[in-house]
Amino acid sequence: MRRWVCTILLPVVGLVPVGALELKTPAGTITLRQRTAEGTTWVCASQLAEALHGTFARDAVSAYPVLTLSGHRILISTATPVASIDGNLIHLSHIPKENGGCLWLPEEFLTSALSKALGGGVRVVDSAPTERPSMSGPLAAPAEGRMAERVGVDLAVGADYARVTLTGEGLSHAQLRQEGQELVVLLARGSFAETHREVGKGILEKLNAQGATLRLALGAGFERFETLKLLKPERLVILLKGKEQTVAAPPSPIQQPAPPGGEGATQVPSAPPVRTQAFDVIAIDPGHGGTDTGALGPDGLEEKDLTLAIATKFASDLEKQGLKAVLTRTSDVTVPLQQRTALANFNQADLFISIHINSAPTAKAHGTETYYLSKQATDLWSSQLADKENAAGGTESSAPAGGLNLVLWDLAQTSHIVESAALAETIQDEFNTLLGTQNRGVRQAPFVVLEGAQMPAVLVEVAFLSNPSEAKKLSESTFQDQVANALTQAVLRFKARYENPNLAAPQP
Ligand SMILES: [Zn+2]
Repeated sequence: MRRWVCTILLPVVGLVPVGALELKTPAGTITLRQRTAEGTTWVCASQLAEALHGTFARDAVSAYPVLTLSGHRILISTATPVASIDGNLIHLSHIPKENGGCLWLPEEFLTSALSKALGGGVRVVDSAPTERPSMSGPLAAPAEGRMAERVGVDLAVGADYARVTLTGEGLSHAQLRQEGQELVVLLARGSFAETHREVGKGILEKLNAQGATLRLALGAGFERFETLKLLKPERLVILLKGKEQTVAAPPSPIQQPAPPGGEGATQVPSAPPVRTQAFDVIAIDPGHGGTDTGALGPDGLEEKDLTLAIATKFASDLEKQGLKAVLTRTSDVTVPLQQRTALANFNQADLFISIHINSAPTAKAHGTETYYLSKQATDLWSSQLADKENAAGGTESSAPAGGLNLVLWDLAQTSHIVESAALAETIQDEFNTLLGTQNRGVRQAPFVVLEGAQMPAVLVEVAFLSNPSEAKKLSESTFQDQVANALTQAVLRFKARYENPNLAAPQP
């Protein structure tokens, strides 16, 4: 390992006091300037790259910020709390934020993503919290103890929407109500990271978060709002809809202390635009087929026949709702896994839903599981299931080959992972409500069949063929109808939550 000495110019404490964070790495101990906000400390990505002799830039293909260190590429999302290192997704405690010419990374990034890139052994030696941070934008927060968890406030604005994302624990008990031209969120416990924003005119004019109260001042263009709760981390998304949102002139840039070398922080261009689209074309993938039977049950029941029966009913239900269904197979034929997502991509499907039937070594296991794609499985069970499903359809490896695929995989996942997770949660909900099957939860695993999908994609394991009572139900046409109905209701609910309301209604 190379030994080196890095001289850090200590920032002058002035208008923007900053603290210092000492980081022990396999390459030596480095000192970074830090900010404290939202209950954690933050460091600047370009300064981190410089201190570790790496690079920080935008990826030419995906436009995502990329940190390259010791030959590893760390792709960073500024829309969701994830990063990916060499194609492996890492969940972060907070969403990295751009402010004052820096991309700010939460402290957890250092011990997870950075530690992986440097081969382990990264730890924070000392972190002196900022006395009086003075920042505008999403990082605006009063000085606070490192253990105190504040609810973070994030804002995204488009011409016809304003989206406020709250991140922190205890949000499920928060109350939201409309008081005249204000939407008010009250926390039952904890407090918000103090945030004051002049947003603009139209739908949302001002945002003020202080103590346990968040106030959203609504403009003349406001029409309606909806909310979505997400887990891991706990989030409450408030989507305000309407028209003619304008954006106030941004506050003058914050004076930054000169970074080491005095060349100024790397400017990060603005993030890619938020995707707005309808979800009208649904790709349905009946698992297995042809020589690949999938799981086997009593009385000659085969997974491939049950998935096709459910998928066919699901497709006809969707079409009754005026939606278009694309089936990856309509008969008992062998279809390679990669060809299934290729079919969905070719048909410009907006959602991809793969249908499978589970099996377990014990007859007792029962219930429904819904998966979305991750390089890392939630647990050993999920990992074994992915191995089993990946072995089907003549696929040799679950890993994408070559650098370009890695970039595409990163792209697909960082841009769809929130929607995929939400779709998976909605499907689990519907199965609970309509079928009363045991909810085995939303999980993540590296399924090949989801890998090439250029749209939100999930895999549903409807029930267990290895459980005699579930096997009997699965063979019954009425139960298959109920499963198809639960899936259809989930798609309709997902559409209602995620669609841009200004798009034309689907043509029947
Ligand atoms: Zn299967």
